[in-house]
Amino acid sequence: MKRVSILGSTGSIGTNTLDVLGRHPDEYEVFALSAMSRVDELLAQVLQWQPRFAVMPDEAKAAELRVKLKQAGSRTEVMAGAQALCDISSHPDVDMVMAAIVGAAGLAPALAAARAGKRLLLANKEAIVLGGAFFMKAVEEGGATLLPIDSEHSAIFQCLPEDRSQWAQRIDHIVLTASGGPFRTRDPASLADVTPEQAVAHPNWVMGRKISVDSATMMNKALEVIEARWLFNLQPEQIRVIIHPQSIIHSMVVCRDQSVLAQLGTPDMRVPIAYGLSFPERITSGANRLDLLTCKDLSFEEADEHRFPGLHLSWRALRGAEGSTAILNAANEETVAAFLVNGLRFDQIAKLNRRCLDELQASSDEVASVEGLLALDARTRRHAQALIAKAAT
Ligand code: NAD
Ligand code: MG
Repeated sequence: MKRVSILGSTGSIGTNTLDVLGRHPDEYEVFALSAMSRVDELLAQVLQWQPRFAVMPDEAKAAELRVKLKQAGSRTEVMAGAQALCDISSHPDVDMVMAAIVGAAGLAPALAAARAGKRLLLANKEAIVLGGAFFMKAVEEGGATLLPIDSEHSAIFQCLPEDRSQWAQRIDHIVLTASGGPFRTRDPASLADVTPEQAVAHPNWVMGRKISVDSATMMNKALEVIEARWLFNLQPEQIRVIIHPQSIIHSMVVCRDQSVLAQLGTPDMRVPIAYGLSFPERITSGANRLDLLTCKDLSFEEADEHRFPGLHLSWRALRGAEGSTAILNAANEETVAAFLVNGLRFDQIAKLNRRCLDELQASSDEVASVEGLLALDARTRRHAQALIAKAAT
C-alpha cells in the first residue's frame, strides 16, 4: 500500500485525486487530508477515507473539525497551523504527496516533501514559479521524485525518456498548448467589462476559481512557461505556446531531429493525476476514451499578444533579474483576488502585473533563501495592493 497525503484535498485537483485513489483501494491509502476553509467538505472526506491526520491551517476551523469528528466517532487526528502541512508532507510514513494547494501558500509544504525525498506530485505551479531554483535544489538534495500534474507538463513528461539525463540532448523545444479560455474570440476592447462569473466559465476544464481566471487572462500559460523552464531545465526560447481550442493535444516535445511527440486525451485531470500516482506504470483513471472520429477538428492559432498581454510577461520575467518570476506570481495572485472579490477590472490584471514586474526588483538577500523569497512575495503583494487601490479610484 502506498500512503498518500493530499494538500488541498477539497479543491478541484484534490477531489479528482481522491476519485482516482478510490478506483485503486488495494494499492493506495490516504494518509492525510487538508483544506483551508471548508470544514464540512473536509469532514465528509475524512469520514469516508479515515486518514491518520487531517489538517486545517486555521486554529478555529481545526477546532470545529475536531469537535465534529469526535461526535462522529472518527479516530483521525486533527492538526492546525502551517507547520502541520509540512509535517504531513514529510512524515516518515508517507510515500507520496499531492501538492494541490493554490498559490504561494503551498510552497513550504511542497518543499518539505521534496526535502524528505517523497514522490511529489506537483499541481501547485505557483510554488515552483515562486521558488524555482530552490525548489529544484530541494528535490535534488532530498532525492525526491518530482512528477508534474499540470496537464501540459505531464504531457511533456510522458513524451520524454524516463532517464532525465537524456532530456537535454533530446529536446529542441517544447510547445505548450493553451485552450485560449472563455475570451478567445471576444473583442479585446470589451474585456474591461467581463464579470468574475464569465471569467471562471472555462470552455473545457472545471477548475478552481483562481486558475480559471488565470486561464482567461492566459496568465496561467505564463506561469506554465516558467514552470516548464524549471521542470525540464529549458532556456526561455525553447518554450513556445500555441492556442489549441479543443484541449485534446495536451502539449508537444519537438526533438532535435524535428520529430514531434505529442500526448493526447480527453481533457480530464484524472489522467495526469493517475500517471503521477502510478509512474512508471499506468493505472485506470476514470477518464473517457478519446474518439478522434468525433473530434471534428483539431485547430491551432497564434496567441495574440494584444488579446493576452499577460502571457508574454513570462518570458520577460525569465529573462529578467533573479526573483522576477516570484514578483510576477505574487502580483498576479493579488490582482486575480482583487478581480474576484473587489471589482478590479479584468483588463487591469495583466496591466498591474506588468507594472509590478517593471517597478520592483528583488534584492540579493531576497533571492538567497526561501524566507527571502517569501519576503519578496509579501513586498510585491503590498505594492500590488497599492496599485489596485489606485486603480479603483
Ligand atoms: P481549488 O481552489 O479548487 O483548491 C485549492 C485547495 O487548496 C483547496 O482544498 C483549499 O482549501 C486549499 N487552500 C487554498 N488556500 C490555501 C492556503 N492558504 N493554505 C492551505 N490550503 C489552501 O484549486 P485547484 O483548481 O484544485 O488548483 C490547485 C492547484 O493546482 C493550483 O496551483 C492550480 O494552478 C493547479 N492546477 C489545477 C488544475 C485544475 O484542473 N484544477 C490544473 C492544473 C494545475
Ligand atoms: Mg495546465
